[in-house]
Amino acid sequence: MSNMQLETLRRIVQEINSSVCLHDSLDIMVNQVSEAMHVDVCSIYLFDERNQRYLLMATKGLNPEAVGNVALPLGEGLVGLVGQREEIVNLDNVSKHERFAYFPETGEEIYHSFLGVPVMYRRKVMGVMVVQNREAKDFSEAAESFLVTLCAQLSGVIAHAHAVGNIDVFRKPNLSSTYKTFQGSPGAGGIALGRAIILYPLADLAAIPDREADDISEELILLDQAIESVRGEISSLDEKMHDSLMSEERALFSVFLRMLDDNALPAEIKELIRDGHWAQGAVKKVIDRHVALFAQMEDDYLRERVADLKDLGRRILASLQEADSSHKELSSDSIIIGEEISTAALVELPVGKIAAIVTSEGAANSHMVIVARALGIPTVVGVTELPINTLDDVELIVDAYQGRVFVNPPRRLRQRYKDIQKEEEQIAKDLKQYETKDAITPDGVTVRLFVNTGLMIDVVRGVQRGAKGVGLYRSEIPFMLRERFPGEEEQRAIYRQQLSHFANKPVVMRTLDIGADKDLPYFEIKEENSALGWRGIRFTLDHPEIFSSQIRAMLKASIGLNNLHILLPMVTSISEVEEALYLLERDWIAVQEEEEVKITKPKIGIMVEVPSVLLQIDEFAELVDFFSVGSNDLIQYLLAVDRNNPRVSSVYSHFHPSVLRTLQRLVVECHKYNKPISICGEMAGDPLSAVLLMAMGFNTLSMSSSNILRVRKAICNVSMSDAQTLLEQVLKMNNPLIVKSWLEYYFKTHGLGDMVKSARIVNV
Ligand code: PEP
Ligand code: MG
Repeated sequence: MSNMQLETLRRIVQEINSSVCLHDSLDIMVNQVSEAMHVDVCSIYLFDERNQRYLLMATKGLNPEAVGNVALPLGEGLVGLVGQREEIVNLDNVSKHERFAYFPETGEEIYHSFLGVPVMYRRKVMGVMVVQNREAKDFSEAAESFLVTLCAQLSGVIAHAHAVGNIDVFRKPNLSSTYKTFQGSPGAGGIALGRAIILYPLADLAAIPDREADDISEELILLDQAIESVRGEISSLDEKMHDSLMSEERALFSVFLRMLDDNALPAEIKELIRDGHWAQGAVKKVIDRHVALFAQMEDDYLRERVADLKDLGRRILASLQEADSSHKELSSDSIIIGEEISTAALVELPVGKIAAIVTSEGAANSHMVIVARALGIPTVVGVTELPINTLDDVELIVDAYQGRVFVNPPRRLRQRYKDIQKEEEQIAKDLKQYETKDAITPDGVTVRLFVNTGLMIDVVRGVQRGAKGVGLYRSEIPFMLRERFPGEEEQRAIYRQQLSHFANKPVVMRTLDIGADKDLPYFEIKEENSALGWRGIRFTLDHPEIFSSQIRAMLKASIGLNNLHILLPMVTSISEVEEALYLLERDWIAVQEEEEVKITKPKIGIMVEVPSVLLQIDEFAELVDFFSVGSNDLIQYLLAVDRNNPRVSSVYSHFHPSVLRTLQRLVVECHKYNKPISICGEMAGDPLSAVLLMAMGFNTLSMSSSNILRVRKAICNVSMSDAQTLLEQVLKMNNPLIVKSWLEYYFKTHGLGDMVKSARIVNV
């Protein structure tokens, strides 16, 4: 062995020995080995004596989902062969070997060469370590001796873990006591301390979290009841299909029933429950195990039975979930976590009881976050590493300013965050004085601050916080709260509420803007590239009946109030506006005739979200009365960055020089044609960017009610001349981070430090 290899070995061994938990040691090992040996795959299987099998415990290269799920019965597959022979197996092409067993869930099919080394401790096989390469070429002798040396070290660590006895090495590490931190993107600011509640789709086996049974006998009873009910369900299906299916086709039902025999699947599920798993988790594990076995079968017919098996699993699960209401029990310190939470799912929850939201997917400008912000719920998104399924009921701190999530936080950290929460309350109290102030700069310039609404709570808060009008009513939100498209009269009543709460003030109602991340629960639009797809006005022009019922309802709702403005979303071309104007005119005439009243013709505007509009302002200005910038989407399309994708969230910035320069030119252009221009994207609600927008000359800034007071405070404290100087300075900068720091510096040195989120950074 070369000196370098010896040095690598020494380093790996040191790291393994200093790691506290076996699972961490195994992870370190596979990562380090694959790097040091330049192999495509490194995996460790441990021998599970009770179940007489080798279980995949760690891997670098294979599908990480297979860890804890792929198991080889003793004496089966190449791993079994290494264990059985207690010697090295070094092959240049595994597929030629009679013992090769293929697990589709590992993604193993592309690796040809295989080197397996037994992990021996006092003459006993503790496990098998495997390295694999795509290339069909056997491994060198040096590679063999490298692995043998490492396995000798590893065996001691495994033996120790077994000997300590207080951990079940075959279970995933239990996070319930380990302190960990995770990074995501800040969504809606704020801080929360509480316990995690996993929001998972029902009857979805893959989404079932790991949970310990609270009461094993109770779980066993629940399982018995569920199995009984599924048996009944299948028998009645069998009967129902008696006349329409041939007996061979109905054979599946008897297979299902046999699988549900007491000593078949239920016996395995019960064994796991007795080991401490909750019933739903045990069902998932057993079905996964059988699916893996079926999938490797050579017989096509049997392999295709995987779908049936999953179906059976889903039925048992659905029946268990019917009897379980735990997923809905929220208390005021509940922190909702999930992979992705839709706006519709969010608004269905008792929102007053949600302390915070954390998701592994999504980014700061996704629609769900906008709604969470309006509701004042601290939200962190894009926490890609979050081990959701292991966090049920685990204590968390959510720092939505920094986008951090602390799992099982230590006492001192909890105390620090409780102090920050108190400071926050103090800031909120100080801001209250701005509820009754006007947004006038120290040098006497008045800025119009409007509110964005959707839910009734936005209206109430908007009025309370002194909004001078509604700059964006997201009409899709009431649509999301229903189980079907609301009818004209239903819509009229909803819109009337909005308009009458702001009587004598302008209310800008946007026509239905669905598609992309704004799905209706009853009208799913599935598209490969949904952000560029069927959304906004593209959808409504294809469905004039939906568009017209909305316009008619808005017009009727405005009778006697005369404060309605209509805004068209996602406009790309002149022809879309012409078509929409035609429908609007037609509906306006018709509603007046039907109602026998004169209705003030609403002002019509378009959203500036698609870059094409920027280059045709002159032509659009001939058709419409006003423009409103949807910066959330405009930034997405200008910078070609998905507003929902956490991987590229660092590219998404409203301080990007081309965003700022575009907006500046746009304001000049709109004013040249005497058209007012407002902005209703999230950047209007950030005090740092709001002062720039004010300096650019936007006529109105419209924002979430949760940001109005902060922005008003900034305006009351930054003079227009200072804002113009800042704008001039940042327009010369070429880096969004520098722009942001520059503005933060100004705020911090002008008594506005509490407006700057990073001022609250907690170093841990
Ligand atoms: C925007 O795109 O900036 C906007 C206000 O619309 P939404 O966020 O609803 O897409
Ligand atoms: Mg938009």
